[in-house]
Amino acid sequence: MNIKNMKTVTRIFLTLTVCIMWHVSAAQFIKNQAIAHRGAWKADNFPQNSIASLHRAIALGCAGTEFDVHLTKDDVLVVNHDKDFYGMDIATSTYKELLTKKHPNGESIPTAKEYLREGMKQKKTKLIYELKTSNLGKERTRYSADLSVQLVKKLNADEWVEYILFDYDGAKRIIELDPNAKVYYLNGDVAPDQAKKDGFYGLDYNFNVYKKNPTWIKEAHDLGLVINAWTVNTEDEMLNLLNQNVEFLTTDEPALAIEVINKHNN
Ligand code: MG
Repeated sequence: MNIKNMKTVTRIFLTLTVCIMWHVSAAQFIKNQAIAHRGAWKADNFPQNSIASLHRAIALGCAGTEFDVHLTKDDVLVVNHDKDFYGMDIATSTYKELLTKKHPNGESIPTAKEYLREGMKQKKTKLIYELKTSNLGKERTRYSADLSVQLVKKLNADEWVEYILFDYDGAKRIIELDPNAKVYYLNGDVAPDQAKKDGFYGLDYNFNVYKKNPTWIKEAHDLGLVINAWTVNTEDEMLNLLNQNVEFLTTDEPALAIEVINKHNN
């Protein structure tokens, strides 16, 4: 074989290897039911929704890690739970103004873009994107839904991202823009058949909502909806929900949840 042929063979071999590796990596999302609520922050005292808490949730082996997204005054999607970042109101501040504050671990407020990019460096833990309701009104929430779908599309993050929202119209806007998006409703006031009609992928209700409506989990499953529950922090509540075959538990105690899930499933 001459050198030119050898180079061609090597090139084909490398291309095949990359294709095989990509195929294998495409199927590696973890199948347990644990979703870290605002990342895994508690045990290590990391700031909630920080990149450090994202990394910890991934290292623990969570099926998903949840984070909260707000829109700044100058249309930047940023990751934080509260409407303010260390006293600075997010909706009425520019991104640059928010950079004047830091988390205690030295991190700045992450943009949703940075957060997704960091999460997309792996393919084991899904990224559960909570789009927060704007306190500046319905239009602003709708606009933040538009920007979120644009961002996820631009980053090719569809495989990683599942959306959760308290705002029903904002959630429906995401479904309208991307009918294949996996969108769950959070507020607990819509019955499974209505959510199914409106194109939702699942319900993500407070665990007490399922107790008050004891037929909903079964009804939702019969309709093909996926069930997540928040915020499930005790072994008893975890087992109660696992016994009803819920797909996901969102928890501040992801290490405990993984232990309880493994015991329950084996
Ligand atoms: Mg949240």
